Amino acid sequence: MKYADLLDRFVGYAKINTRSDPKSKTVPSDPKEIFFLRKLSQELKEIGLTDVRFKKDGYLFARIPATAGQEQVKAIGFISHVDTADFNSENIDPQVHENYDGKSILKLNDEYSLDPKTFPNLKNYAGHTLITTDGTTLLGADDKAGVAEIITAMKYLLQHPEIEHGEVDIAFGPDEEIGTGADNFDTKDFGAAFAYTVDGSSKGELQWATFSASAATLKAKGTQVHPSEGYGKLINPIVALIDVFNLLPDQRPENTKDDQGYYYLTDITGNGDTAAAEMIIRDFSRNGLKERKNILKEAVDKINARYPYKVIELTQYDQYYNMADVLKNNMAPVHLAEKAFSLLGIKPNEKPVRGGTDGSKITFLGTPTPNIFTGAENLHGRYEFASLNDMEKAVDVILKIIELNSLSK
Ligand SMILES: [Zn+2]
Repeated sequence: MKYADLLDRFVGYAKINTRSDPKSKTVPSDPKEIFFLRKLSQELKEIGLTDVRFKKDGYLFARIPATAGQEQVKAIGFISHVDTADFNSENIDPQVHENYDGKSILKLNDEYSLDPKTFPNLKNYAGHTLITTDGTTLLGADDKAGVAEIITAMKYLLQHPEIEHGEVDIAFGPDEEIGTGADNFDTKDFGAAFAYTVDGSSKGELQWATFSASAATLKAKGTQVHPSEGYGKLINPIVALIDVFNLLPDQRPENTKDDQGYYYLTDITGNGDTAAAEMIIRDFSRNGLKERKNILKEAVDKINARYPYKVIELTQYDQYYNMADVLKNNMAPVHLAEKAFSLLGIKPNEKPVRGGTDGSKITFLGTPTPNIFTGAENLHGRYEFASLNDMEKAVDVILKIIELNSLSK
C-alpha cells in the first residue's frame, strides 16, 4: 500500500472524542478539541513540518517550505476541522471490514447494520476496505478523515524530497460543526494564496458553490392575563411567532431542493408571558438572501401592526456567503483540482452544497478555498463509514494538486 500508515492514523484519531459543544462560549468550544490539537502539533513536529503554531482562534497552523528553486510558486493550503458532529462520541470503536463485496449487510452490532437496501451507495464500494462504527457512536470521519489525509500527504511529501513543490500551509481548526470555527481565520499568518478544505464526502466531490446564510432570532413579549378576562387584552407571544412563520413563503428544507433556498424554523419556546424563536434562512444568491430577510422583516412588521405595541423584536445576522461569488472571478483553484482529478481518473462532482463549509468563510476572509472529498459517507451518525481506498485517493489528490501547482509557476 502506498500510504502504509493512513489506516492506523485515521483509526487512532477517530477514537479520540472531539465533539464540539454548541452551548459553549469558549474557543475552542470544548477542551477535548485542544487535547487532540496538541497531539496533532506533536505529530506534525515529529514528521518534520515547520512553524507549527497555535492561533488565538483555536487553529493549529504548520508549514512545509518550498523546495529549492520553487520559492516563487504561489503558496497552497489544506484545511480540515478536528471537531465532530452532535452525536454520541464516547468510546468510538472503529470497525475495519476488508474487501467488502458491495452486497452484504454490514453488521455494526446486534441492533444496527448497514443494509444496501437502505444505503444503495454501498454497491460503489465492492472490493474496498471500509471503516464503520460499532453502532453506538458516530465515526467522526467528518473530519478526522480529512485530518489524516492531509497529514499523510505531508509526511509523504517530506519523505520524497525529489518532489519539487512550492510552500504548503496546513491548518486544523475547531468548531466547524457548530458553525463558528473559521470566524476569525488568520489568512495572513496562514500564508497560502489559495487553499482547499478536505471536508467533503464521497469520491469526486469538488465543491465551490455553497449557500449564503443568515440567522434570525425573534423575541416576543406578550400580555398575560387570565383567559377569562382575555377578551381584547390578552396577547399570546407564542401565537404571534407562529403567525409570522405562517406568513412566510412555504419554502422549507423538507420541500425544497437543488438551487432553491428556504426558511427553517429551528427552535420555538415560550409561555404566556414571553416566547422566542430561532430561524435560519438559506439562498444560493446574495440578492435572494437579502430578499428573504426582507420578507421575514415585513412579516414581523405585519404581525406587530395587529397589536397595540411592538410585540416581536427581530434580530438578523449573516452567517456566511456563497463562495462562488468570489471563486467565479478566480477559478484557478477549482481548475487545478479538476486537472488533478482528471490525471488520477476521478470524475469530479461539482454540485453546489446545500450548506456551507469553513471555506465559505475563509474565501470571504481572502483565501479562495473550495472543498474536496474525504471518501466518507453517511456523516454525522452511527451509519457513517469511510473507504480506505477513497481516502487514499484523497491523499493522491492533495499530492497531485501540490505537484501541478509547482509546474504552473
Ligand atoms: Zn465536516
